[in-house]
Amino acid sequence: MENKFIVSARKYRPQNFNTVVGQSHITTTLKNAIRNNQLAHAFLFCGPRGVGKTTCARILAKTINCTNPTPDGEACNTCNSCVSFDAGTSLNIHELDAASNNSVDDIRTLVEQVRFAPQAGKYKVYIVDEVHMLSASAFNAFLKTLEEPPSYAIFILATTEKHKILPTILSRCQIFDFKRITNSDTVDHLQEIVDKEEIKAEKAALQVIAQKSEGCMRDSLSILDKIVSFTNGTVTYQNTLEHLNILDEDYYFKMLESMQQQDMAAAMLLFDEINRKGFEGDLVLNGFAEFIRNLLVCKDPKSAALLEVVEGMREKYVAVASQTGLSYLVSALNILNESEINYKMARNKRLHVELTLIKLNFLQQAIDLSVENGQVVKKKRVDGPVAFRIQPVAPVQFKPTATAPAAPEAKLYIEQKTTQATAPTAQPVTPVATAPAPAAKPVTRSIPTSGGQKKNLLETLRAKYGDQYAIEEIKEAEVLNIEKLRECWDQYAAQLEKQQKHSSAGTFKSARLTIENDIRFTITVSALTSQKFVEQERMMLIDHLQTAFNNRAISFDVLVEASEREDIPVHMRLNSKQKFEHIAEQYPLVKELKERLKLEIDY
Ligand SMILES: [Zn+2]
Repeated sequence: MENKFIVSARKYRPQNFNTVVGQSHITTTLKNAIRNNQLAHAFLFCGPRGVGKTTCARILAKTINCTNPTPDGEACNTCNSCVSFDAGTSLNIHELDAASNNSVDDIRTLVEQVRFAPQAGKYKVYIVDEVHMLSASAFNAFLKTLEEPPSYAIFILATTEKHKILPTILSRCQIFDFKRITNSDTVDHLQEIVDKEEIKAEKAALQVIAQKSEGCMRDSLSILDKIVSFTNGTVTYQNTLEHLNILDEDYYFKMLESMQQQDMAAAMLLFDEINRKGFEGDLVLNGFAEFIRNLLVCKDPKSAALLEVVEGMREKYVAVASQTGLSYLVSALNILNESEINYKMARNKRLHVELTLIKLNFLQQAIDLSVENGQVVKKKRVDGPVAFRIQPVAPVQFKPTATAPAAPEAKLYIEQKTTQATAPTAQPVTPVATAPAPAAKPVTRSIPTSGGQKKNLLETLRAKYGDQYAIEEIKEAEVLNIEKLRECWDQYAAQLEKQQKHSSAGTFKSARLTIENDIRFTITVSALTSQKFVEQERMMLIDHLQTAFNNRAISFDVLVEASEREDIPVHMRLNSKQKFEHIAEQYPLVKELKERLKLEIDY
């Protein structure tokens, strides 16, 4: 029995189109083409490995040479031609494996053979496997023959990598895309074989084989062969798992259970047990991630169709999935994925996996914490300032007319409001947020923010320097009086002198001061230039005086004496050079401009 089985892949190779598994879209088309005598001269068979490309090519070659085809376009398998094809002795079929024969010479040999018409039969069929492996020059040598083949020649090119085929080749071929064989198709085919061979095989075992072979029929057959030969013809779920080095899914179910009960010890012991069975950490991580993915898929009846598990397991998956929270599954998958990525870099692999298991153990607890009253609490972004951010909204009702067009801003504001309102911690906000009239909303977006921050800063400062702050508040504001004003004025002039601003200092010394009322005074100067000097100092000067009088209301005007306005005083009559020096002193950039551009003064 064993001997018979080692060759099942060859023994059960399909002999006609009808027995090809899972490619009916191609076999039907080919049969129709043969029946209607509309065969192309070049075919390109694309698709993953082990799905029947070469098999279909051989069946095609046999069928078109059959002298007595059946009415539905299949080979008879009894005529001389068919028999010689089945025995592999036909002269009308040439196979070239381009993976190992990819040089120009190999192709030239093939092309030379094409010149001779077949001795028997109608067609000579050339099958070039793995055609994408041909070198560029080999491709070119092939091109001419492919373009104008003799009427009796048919080329079948097979490849797993269609994108590597030159467009010039693609355009000359009829292209067939082979599909990956589905698990259920593979299982059916395996079942057929074990039935014929009278082998006891559990359905679950065949399903595992189908999953492991990932749509490649050849692989699934060779796996079956091996297991049969190792187990003397009894294929069980358990020995299949052992043979394929697959961890029983029950372990994952147990693992998940211990994690949800936050039984860390159980999870660690379980991992140890798995590890001692010879399963490496990355395999466990990968397997567990796939297990979680399957549970996630089961969550929704619509996606449950994607679940590909062995028979009898489906119900268990659905049951466990219904008991496990979606957030847990998604988070767990995330953790596992990250851990798998970092596995290679980890020095202590075992610790790395254990750490992941620990994280998963506490995951449920973490999720429970973030859930309050059945609702997930959103993360709070800012705590303190939130209340202030909206408080100034109501009073700042300037430009209420400009509200309507500012729709996007309004939207922004409302979103902000709702997130705050739903968060349980932001309760003080709610009454304020609902208070403002809708008309005031749009204009307030930026203003309250800055206002709120300022106020918050002030609060902080108050808390920090509370005492000094209180004293300052008590100190009363002073009204203007000429003695003190003159004193401050002279101080300021002295400062200017120190800063080497001699012209300004001069102006200050010669200026006349007149008090208008408690908070306002006038500075009278003799010339327009002097007025400018004073204006330059306005900000600093105001600050200086306001501080001195502790009175933020103090302000001043600068007047130029009427009689002097037009005339330049004698001592101000300067020549061009002096004027320039005067200006340069005030504005160093002017001097730099002159130097950089190498300007000369026009006297
Ligand atoms: Zn035949």
